[in-house]
Amino acid sequence: MNSKIWLSSPHMGGGEQKYVNEAFDANWVAPLGPNVDGFEKDLETFLNEDVKVAALSAGTAALHLALIECDVKHGDEVICQSMTFSASANPIAYCGATPVFIDSEKDTWNMCPVALKEAIEDRASKGKKPKAIIVVHLYGMPAKMTEILEIADKYDIPVIEDAAEALGSTYNGKTCGTFGRFGILSFNGNKIITTSGGGALVCHNQEDKDKAVFLSTQARDNAPHYQHSHIGYNYRMSNIVAGIGRGQMEVLKDRVEARRKMHDFYVELFKNIDGVEVFSEPSEEYFSNHWLSAIVVDEKVTGKTREGLRLALLEDNIESRPLWKPMHLQPVFADAPYYGKKVAEELFDNGLCLPSGSNLSDNDRERIEKRIKDFFS
Ligand SMILES: *Cc1c(COP(=O)(O)O)cnc(C)c1O
Repeated sequence: MNSKIWLSSPHMGGGEQKYVNEAFDANWVAPLGPNVDGFEKDLETFLNEDVKVAALSAGTAALHLALIECDVKHGDEVICQSMTFSASANPIAYCGATPVFIDSEKDTWNMCPVALKEAIEDRASKGKKPKAIIVVHLYGMPAKMTEILEIADKYDIPVIEDAAEALGSTYNGKTCGTFGRFGILSFNGNKIITTSGGGALVCHNQEDKDKAVFLSTQARDNAPHYQHSHIGYNYRMSNIVAGIGRGQMEVLKDRVEARRKMHDFYVELFKNIDGVEVFSEPSEEYFSNHWLSAIVVDEKVTGKTREGLRLALLEDNIESRPLWKPMHLQPVFADAPYYGKKVAEELFDNGLCLPSGSNLSDNDRERIEKRIKDFFS
């Protein structure tokens, strides 16, 4: 059997161990320390928008804290893009609130501004104005932020940007994660850079960041004994994990470039295969990190399905994966309201994510190309 080609696997840069060793040498083996501070600074510099970043244990934890800071409480409603990973929506349930799911639009596969407006007006007319809007930059593709922010401003609803997949992406030259009242990042094992597991909350002022740090370290009041006036969480990033993050930040730009080259490889590969569309930026305003390269297979034109391709790749030990199954189709969210048509559903039926790692070799690409060309010939 040929060796496994993964969809997206960790890609260390070489500098990580230096920071981890420093943490060991100084005995900073705790959920605070110089690497945590350094990693936050590195992220703030990279995002380049005068933001304050809190390093946390996961992107999911960052979303949970963002919702708490937006005052989301039991019985509230929160708008969320339907086509996404479940971690975008689960924190709404942690708060005892109800998600209201929104369809995608065809250009970016992200939240449809038309369905968003319809949802806000309909929920408000039922006496429940949504408390927050969670918009996702799927696979690194920036959402239609101009339209979405305009609607959010009009109805005065805070936007939380799930940029877990979009570190290094920009829209109109501005980095993803810095548009909303809050942004969240993830450094899980399969993301564009990884700390093995981790996340961050992007804030726009020191007060919001301080509150996130306070809540993420068990909400301890200022007293010599352990005194608590709030429910706290254990969500802070450890100094060991942050050391990996500092090393990864040294190579982030290279990782973005390598992922974008994988996207170019698929554009070239599918150029002469009718009925397959490679997911690409709709215009110059969008710059995707192309965390995952994805395609949509038109069965009517190709006579083939995405599931057929997935199985053909698997025969040569090549991993691929259907697009995210929309949240409004998930059993666990069956009762949640949904606004839109069937854009997300059709993408799910016909879309496939292909191997996209920054560490794939020429030999890996040859194997992928051969399987795909054989499949469609
Ligand atoms: C990975 C991911 C998350 C969750 O991040 P974790 O760090 O794994 O908790 C949230 N949203 C999206 C869209 C993701 O891809």
